[in-house]
Amino acid sequence: MHTILLVEDERTLRELVGDYLTRRSGGQWRVLPAADGGEALLLAASQPLDLAILDVMLPDIDGFALCRELRSGSDLPILFLSARSAEEDRLRGYGLGADDYMTKPFSQAELFAKAAALLRRSKGEMGRDLLVSGGVAVDIPAHAALVDGRRVDLPPKELAILRLLLEERGRVLRREDLLLRLWGWDYEGSDRVVDTHVKNLRRALGPWARCLKTVFKTGYKWEEE
Ligand code: CA
Repeated sequence: MHTILLVEDERTLRELVGDYLTRRSGGQWRVLPAADGGEALLLAASQPLDLAILDVMLPDIDGFALCRELRSGSDLPILFLSARSAEEDRLRGYGLGADDYMTKPFSQAELFAKAAALLRRSKGEMGRDLLVSGGVAVDIPAHAALVDGRRVDLPPKELAILRLLLEERGRVLRREDLLLRLWGWDYEGSDRVVDTHVKNLRRALGPWARCLKTVFKTGYKWEEE
């Protein structure tokens, strides 16, 4: 579960983006909406955050000042969402330590992807405790998989395959590599055993099985939407 602060003074946009991110993450992201900087700082002070998405032009303080406040004493990942596309604005954002910058109008799918990448980078690199793609998540310390927020019981090999697919998303995992990594050098059976486990895994993933692609004659790949 990730907690995301979304600061945007336009109500419609705030609701739209909040709903979208919640839905796209399969309920794995809790979005805290704030209409201005004051509200944002109160929320930030009341609970730990994993990511902040900030509009630049706000009624009380500007997003840059807010970024400075949120960043004092924390390394919270920050993504700017702004109508201002001027290069100096972008540079100012990055200068303040923003991790990414998007210009309105923007694609919600792209926002989701960027936010997910930031969460992965900040969580992932230190400890890799939760891997998330769409509505699928693997909680590594708990040895658990979640589909659309619900825990699914996966046998160990299926869970291990899912973990590898998510860790290496976008890349093709060859059958022989999966065999080697999950069964070890001394495994002497057919590499078709991988296919059987993938078939079971697909069944458990429900609608998200569509992200698990078969690469003809090679292996498998997780394609993020
Ligand atoms: Ca605004």
